[in-house]
Amino acid sequence: TDAPIASVHLANATRVSVNGLPRTAVIGVLGGGQLGRMMALAAGNLGVRIKCLDPTDDAPAAVAATHVKGHFRDASAIKQFVSNQQVDVLTMEIEHVDVDALEAAAEEAGLDVEPTPQTIRVIQDKFAQKQYFKNHGVALGEFREIKCRGCMEATGKSYNYPFMLKSKRLAYDGKGNYVVKSENDIDAAVEALGGYGQGLYAEQWAPYVKELAVMVVRSRDGSVVSYPLVETVHKDNICHVTEAPADVPERVAAAAKKVAEKAIACLDGAGIFGVEMFLLGNDEILLNEVAPRPHNSGHYTMDGCVTSQFENHLRAVMGWPLGDTSLTSGSAIMLNLLGEAEGEEGVRIAHDLMAKAYATPGVKVHWYGKEDGMKKGRKVGHINILGKSREEARAKLELLDPSGLGSLR
Ligand code: ATP
Ligand code: MG
Ligand code: MG
Repeated sequence: TDAPIASVHLANATRVSVNGLPRTAVIGVLGGGQLGRMMALAAGNLGVRIKCLDPTDDAPAAVAATHVKGHFRDASAIKQFVSNQQVDVLTMEIEHVDVDALEAAAEEAGLDVEPTPQTIRVIQDKFAQKQYFKNHGVALGEFREIKCRGCMEATGKSYNYPFMLKSKRLAYDGKGNYVVKSENDIDAAVEALGGYGQGLYAEQWAPYVKELAVMVVRSRDGSVVSYPLVETVHKDNICHVTEAPADVPERVAAAAKKVAEKAIACLDGAGIFGVEMFLLGNDEILLNEVAPRPHNSGHYTMDGCVTSQFENHLRAVMGWPLGDTSLTSGSAIMLNLLGEAEGEEGVRIAHDLMAKAYATPGVKVHWYGKEDGMKKGRKVGHINILGKSREEARAKLELLDPSGLGSLR
């Protein structure tokens, strides 16, 4: 028999329990984009509710969550969200939040934030993140802070060209990165990223043969469980295709899993994390970066694994037992639906591809409801392709988008 699920504030130190399973009734989420939407859809199945704080009028998450309008980088919006919404635990779908406000508001209300604000603080600054992982012995390439033209010249001499110049903050989809190909590029690179005062750092070029990623879920007791290794393929710096399991030798998969789990074990707080890595020609694996939330490289888990990354994120932040992360089929490929054109034209192109996908066995379509905001390069949905074998899944990808297959070979 099921006990009623009530909204119990953690400050009251009580949680409703059903057959010994702790139940958290309302989860607050900073951000209400497609990640919040897929979180909210998973929450529905678990019998818990989502309230999201999002600045837009038509937050994609609103389809399955209560939408509270406000910005996750606005201190007063966060404060009000925490004090008015009676959520039992707070999490996020984006790391670019006002952490100071989050920490203060949560402390005042005695509210649990997962993963912890301290973890978000470290991860949202990509330079601080690299320093943190380096200090904890995680394998990663050379990097250094950039504060002046002299530093850029010295970096070129020491790293050689090309090297990567990156913004420390607010980076996504490669916005905030600049490939510095020669000394002549220095001024254009720095200007493109907003100048030396914006917070810049450089990374040595990683001569990778593949990009790999692993989703790792961390429970409240600090134990970690990982999903299968995937290969990620980017087009213009945006994730285009992922393939699970990655087509690499078993020892490489084991080594990548070790790097990913080590990185997440040294952080704090519960939830799912996306770990991006580079595989070099000598089989060496270097960490690229970590996201403290569900991640594009984990979308395949929605149809390809026993428990999706969204469900496991919620289970982790609520302190529930974690779900089985194993694949349910031999191969799971994810193809992102990226805006091909603005407005109506873009919607038509996406719908044509979706129509083909709906007609293909073993293929699932996820559409984020962004018809009104169709833009070139914008993530508007994704398609999960399952196959008994790698060959079978790749053959279906070839039918839908031959360019995606080309990059996997
Ligand atoms: P995301 O959307 O994943 O958060 P981001 O804007 O934070 O992206 P990065 O992950 O830092 O950007 O880099 C984007 C892509 O640029 C990487 O996936 C990789 O293809 C390439 N890249 C990044 N750093 C390096 C490097 N040091 N050497 C070579 N290529 C790199
Ligand atoms: Mg990033
Ligand atoms: Mg990245």
